[in-house]
Amino acid sequence: MNLPNKITIVEVGPRDGFQMETVFIPTEKKVEIINAISRTGVRIVETTSFVNPRVIPQMADAAEVMNGIDRAPGVRYTALIPNLKGAERALESELDGLRLVVCVSESYNQKNVGKSVEESLLELEGVLKLAEQKSTPVDVAIGLSFGCPLEGPVSPRKVLSLVERLVDKGFEEVTIADTVGVANPQQVGEMMRQLLARFPSVVFALHFHDTRGLGLANVLAGLEEGVTHFDSSIGGMGGCPVNPGATGNIATEDLVNMLNEMGLETGVDTDKVMTCSRIVQDFLGRSLPSHVLQAGTRAQLYQKSGPASI
Ligand code: ZN
Repeated sequence: MNLPNKITIVEVGPRDGFQMETVFIPTEKKVEIINAISRTGVRIVETTSFVNPRVIPQMADAAEVMNGIDRAPGVRYTALIPNLKGAERALESELDGLRLVVCVSESYNQKNVGKSVEESLLELEGVLKLAEQKSTPVDVAIGLSFGCPLEGPVSPRKVLSLVERLVDKGFEEVTIADTVGVANPQQVGEMMRQLLARFPSVVFALHFHDTRGLGLANVLAGLEEGVTHFDSSIGGMGGCPVNPGATGNIATEDLVNMLNEMGLETGVDTDKVMTCSRIVQDFLGRSLPSHVLQAGTRAQLYQKSGPASI
């Protein structure tokens, strides 16, 4: 396999994971977990979301979290921004990047934010201008890129034309998100082949939810096309607000374990990631879905000796 040898992991647990928790996680606990993540070797942490606190009360302390964390050298702390108002709030805090969201599905975008895709794009343009004044980098995540609960499967053509609009507006980093976890590796390969051929200068990231157990297979399909940036969350925390049965993101320790064992450089320490997940498990009082967290790494397995069985 011809795969890229250096991979960037974007830890999204403190945003995508925490936002699904109905019990409020105290700000100090969030800060403790984010500080632990900063020690794993992960270089980008999606730290919080400046969403309307009435919509997601868990994110009501976004500014406090952003201002309360220790900033590790070499780590970028970013925030998810749903609209211009959120961007204005976010830019009052010290942060290293904004991530904006637009859904490729017209009906879902309308339902989610009450705007057409066109209206959302205009708003994103406004945020980009605002962020540029502060020299804050911005990337855009395209939600429901592989399928939508309201519109069904999404064709690469539709995603391509949306990326084209974003590139025209000056965006250079785009995340292709499988928000509800319906993608399969063939679909991912096809999508990324077309996107990378058409937009070679854009930095693409992939965001997968492991809803149907295809998360890491989808990562491999992305790697084979040359994708180097992947989102994941510690312990596989989270779920999906529009798909109640959905599981969370692919687990960071599962992703890092796979990439490190394959000899791809992530700079991330699997054991340190598991330490973070255990802090979350202890706090929530339940197990998180990560495989490696439950079974241990391969090295840990080889250290154990036991009766042979198949
Ligand atoms: Zn997500």
